[in-house]
Amino acid sequence: MLDFSFCNPTRVLFGRDMFPQMEAHIPVGARVLVLYGGGSVVRNGTMARVLAALSHHEVLEFGGIEPNPSYETLMRAVALVREERIGFLVAVGGGSVIDGAKFVAAAALYEGDPWEILETRGSKIRAAVPLAAIPTLPATGSEMNGTAVITRGELSTKRAFRSEHVFPVFAVLDPTLTFTLPPRQIANGIVDAFVHVLEQYLTYPVDAPVQDRFAEGLLHVLLDVADVTLAEPENYDARACLMWAATLALNGLIGAGVPQDWSSHLIGHELTALYGLDHARTLAVVLPATLQVRRGEKRAKLIQYAERVWGVRDGTGDEKIDAAIGLTRAFFERLGFETRLSGYDLGRDDVSALLKALERTHGASYALGENRTVTPDVATAVFGASL
Ligand code: NAP
Ligand code: FE
Repeated sequence: MLDFSFCNPTRVLFGRDMFPQMEAHIPVGARVLVLYGGGSVVRNGTMARVLAALSHHEVLEFGGIEPNPSYETLMRAVALVREERIGFLVAVGGGSVIDGAKFVAAAALYEGDPWEILETRGSKIRAAVPLAAIPTLPATGSEMNGTAVITRGELSTKRAFRSEHVFPVFAVLDPTLTFTLPPRQIANGIVDAFVHVLEQYLTYPVDAPVQDRFAEGLLHVLLDVADVTLAEPENYDARACLMWAATLALNGLIGAGVPQDWSSHLIGHELTALYGLDHARTLAVVLPATLQVRRGEKRAKLIQYAERVWGVRDGTGDEKIDAAIGLTRAFFERLGFETRLSGYDLGRDDVSALLKALERTHGASYALGENRTVTPDVATAVFGASL
């Protein structure tokens, strides 16, 4: 196991009746800004419940945060926070709204050009307005971590930042808020959470059985619950499992003390930035290709994944790896995902644009992944394997 420092300061209020508890965790007298997305939370009544639960605070609202939240929109929220002397943010929505609120929280108190926050991946953040998260889409884990991903349309770029200052103070995890999600978004959530676990689990082997068993448990739960939660949107227990699994997949616990990959995410971000694919859709294309190209480097873990997660008992090591990659791809396809670029009418010409975009984001001699082996040559091979 690698050395690590682990702290997750986010209080979780989990269940169907936790809204009344949230106000106790917001400073008395703070002016609150509630941030939301394109209006689903207004139409389905979630917003009314949030406002009712904040009755002892002065509350302003900021709506219109897009999927893959845009820098330009968020900077309007930053201006509002500064003008109105907002003391607490509440993000109500999917990962995009929560990520957006994290950027607003940091940018509002940032001295200098807020774009620097993204250029320096959050390392220069010294303070942030405290925030809370009320996720309505179980997927990103953003409600209990210090990461956010922001898109700047005019530069065609999608950048991530991380800071201890933007961990939500609390997160209200109410599985009933997810009942109105269209199947496409639930499928996105299952795949995003699944790949979050794999980015931390399928890494160069270190001896970390605690983290491995946690990760394998989360993968099993996601596999167990996927079909039933898609077929029965109001099955509370299934949604509760999905929601808690998605949060635990990326709250730091399974990633502490192990090397972390994230190259599928970073490569996938360029597919979203250039072609607008949903985040999870990019992962379903890039992850199987990554595992194929890097199967030598990840060999021991891929065999463990085949045996323990997919129950593959027979065959040589290579056959087990083939089976694990094939079963992972088949799982994504069963959930309605394309797993090749051609499924999105993208081909070799687009690969050059994607490679250039990776260079723009990470510099010409980038080296991504847990062992910094994902160089431009390897990224080229990954795109080649995903055609
Ligand atoms: P999202 O972009 O936040 O939301 C997708 C769509 O779902 C929106 O149109 C939204 O509509 C709708 N929606 C949300 N909740 C709903 C509900 N209960 N009922 C009906 N519709 C609902 O999706 P996401 O997958 O959660 O977030 C994706 C973003 O998170 C990407 O930018 C990705 O890069 C980022 N991400 C962040 C992390 C992290 O650690 N921070 C990790 C992975 C990915 P409205 O807009 O109308 O609400
Ligand atoms: Fe993700």
